[in-house]
Amino acid sequence: MFQKIIFVLFLTITSAGTLYPAESDNTIRVAIVQDVTSFSLRVKGRFEVYDLNAKKLIAKASSLRKQAVRILNNKIIIRGIPGSVSALQIAPLKGGYVFINGRIFRGRINLIVKPNGKILVVNESGVEDYLRGILCNEVAPWWPMDALKSQAIIARSYGLYQKQFPKDKYFDLTSDIYSQVYGGKSSERWRTNRAVDLTRGRILTYQGKLFPTYYHATCGGHTEDASKLWNVDLLPLKGVVCNFCVHSPHYKWQAKMSLQDISSKLILKGFRIQEISGIEIIGYDGSGRISGLEIKSQDKGFPVSAKDFRQALGPNIIRSANFTSRIDSGAVHFEGLGWGHGVGLCQWGMQEMAREGSKYEQILKYYFPQSELSTFK
Ligand SMILES: [Zn+2]
Repeated sequence: MFQKIIFVLFLTITSAGTLYPAESDNTIRVAIVQDVTSFSLRVKGRFEVYDLNAKKLIAKASSLRKQAVRILNNKIIIRGIPGSVSALQIAPLKGGYVFINGRIFRGRINLIVKPNGKILVVNESGVEDYLRGILCNEVAPWWPMDALKSQAIIARSYGLYQKQFPKDKYFDLTSDIYSQVYGGKSSERWRTNRAVDLTRGRILTYQGKLFPTYYHATCGGHTEDASKLWNVDLLPLKGVVCNFCVHSPHYKWQAKMSLQDISSKLILKGFRIQEISGIEIIGYDGSGRISGLEIKSQDKGFPVSAKDFRQALGPNIIRSANFTSRIDSGAVHFEGLGWGHGVGLCQWGMQEMAREGSKYEQILKYYFPQSELSTFK
């Protein structure tokens, strides 16, 4: 193997020829590792290495054994790859894959040293490959095929919509819940890949344009109007009645938290409160969710939106904005319906609709009224 690496060195490209591959419209750049000083890298199969800044091919190699990539003087050091630079791209040739921290990724991998001296690792792939790496993280692969197809279409639309507003100079999306949870080829399953293939290029639009096709686990009876949470006022996101998620394991939730904990969490978010003497719901929106609460402390009332209240206490503890609360023995007992922000498609409702025989076109039309199915070119 050592001899193989030495051989690779002789393939280093020294000519000024620029062979940097052009970015296509359906390429999505996902940040998969951020702010680290080292990570493990392995490449299976032949690949090329480009200097991302100079947009120039700097090396070709036939494979790379697992190793820890490090930074030295703001340059990326990879054993077996000469000409260290501060931003490079590993582009596997046909049939090759890159392993990052043991996970397999399709497409190209960009390594960038940020001004703080830490490494950013970005996976650049076509939108269809990106979808393969997220679908299984968002739905169970054994759900009915029309549910998986619906999920593929809204995840494709959501990713392409978000790509219009890149999160960074070097990437469009993150690989966590702030975009869509992406795990590369290691996350793929046969049935979810099949749903991606069967809906290839299909997207949901409104008046001919992409829009944020939000989704959530379980709405609890009525989806939310996006304009109540964010600056998004669109007909397909106004909220609908949903009787399909009633058997979801997330339909009902309960939580208990001491008044002292609630007070500490709200103080951390900037509320100037002390001991809490009461929590009062002061308004509901059209979907039955709470719009605002008032926290009583020291004979004063502190208004807080349900969205901020959830964020402060933890969105996985206060699972939705549809709840009641009662104070007993120094603790608040919450009982609520649904899990998630409630906007757009209710995933457990989608699953039930498909189980009852609805096709993906009907499911999408139901949760996103006035939207239309289109093909992304
Ligand atoms: Zn629902």
